[in-house]
Amino acid sequence: MTQASWSQLLRPPAGPVDLTAVDPRATPGFTGKKADGQAALLALEPTITDLQERLYAHGRTDGQRRLLLVTQGMDTSGKGGTMRKTVGLMDPQGVVIKAFGAPTDTEKRRGFLWRIRQALPPGGKVGVFDRSHYEDVLVARVRSLASKATIERRYDAINEFEQELAESGCVVVKVMLHISRDEQKARLAERLDNPTKYWKYNPKDIDDRKLWDDFQHAYEIALERCNTDTAPWHVIPADRKWYRNLAVAHLLVEHLEGMGLSWPPADFDIEAEKARLAVS
Ligand code: AMP
Ligand code: MG
Repeated sequence: MTQASWSQLLRPPAGPVDLTAVDPRATPGFTGKKADGQAALLALEPTITDLQERLYAHGRTDGQRRLLLVTQGMDTSGKGGTMRKTVGLMDPQGVVIKAFGAPTDTEKRRGFLWRIRQALPPGGKVGVFDRSHYEDVLVARVRSLASKATIERRYDAINEFEQELAESGCVVVKVMLHISRDEQKARLAERLDNPTKYWKYNPKDIDDRKLWDDFQHAYEIALERCNTDTAPWHVIPADRKWYRNLAVAHLLVEHLEGMGLSWPPADFDIEAEKARLAVS
């Protein structure tokens, strides 16, 4: 039996999503242990690099195709670690990372997708969002930052927006890094115990933690409502950092491969250039 694709394996089935049924310590699609997983990640590097370079070359020849990786997850779920370990495998010249915090006053005066549109990757690049437009149906829902009716409309607006993105040549890969409540506690405790990690600690994280169930519920709704075929969601069990890094890497490889990018042909006369070089 051939293994299902990572995308199929990690995509929640259509219908209501129950995050409590997804074990954050599971390692779907991988039977090895930590060291095997770390080695498997490094083994993907040449493949990712080759695929990304094809995309970059495509952009350098005015191609409009690009990839957007959207990462979401509770505090400490490992968005930063995924940037370092997985996104870090790629050539930084071809990657644009954008982190989204609470919107500024100027941003608040615009539609919620305005700042997202500003941050989209240009042709040939891999864009990576650390949080995204989904915050506007996650934290906005949990903390009532917008009316119920407004939030309700946003799910459809997001689907339309992502459809439009796909049609414009942007492959959208959405990952929710799924950690357990206990794992979050351990990771926050680590930050409080280690002077080299104080900078990562934000007292506000405890306020969000108190609303854990509400956030999980908001995620479940977003995962259900915005799990389209053009821009499906993936839930990554993320208590094991090595598995999280590996799974996201596989998703990147699969989606880049799916773009079927070939090397751009020469837009000059190769023989003539060789002749010119020879006598130069
Ligand atoms: P961090 O990613 O931990 O640096 O925190 C960023 C903070 O910005 C989180 O508390 C998010 O909930 C918040 N944030 C991001 N996007 C939005 C948004 N659209 N509306 C309100 N808060 C947001
Ligand atoms: Mg935080």
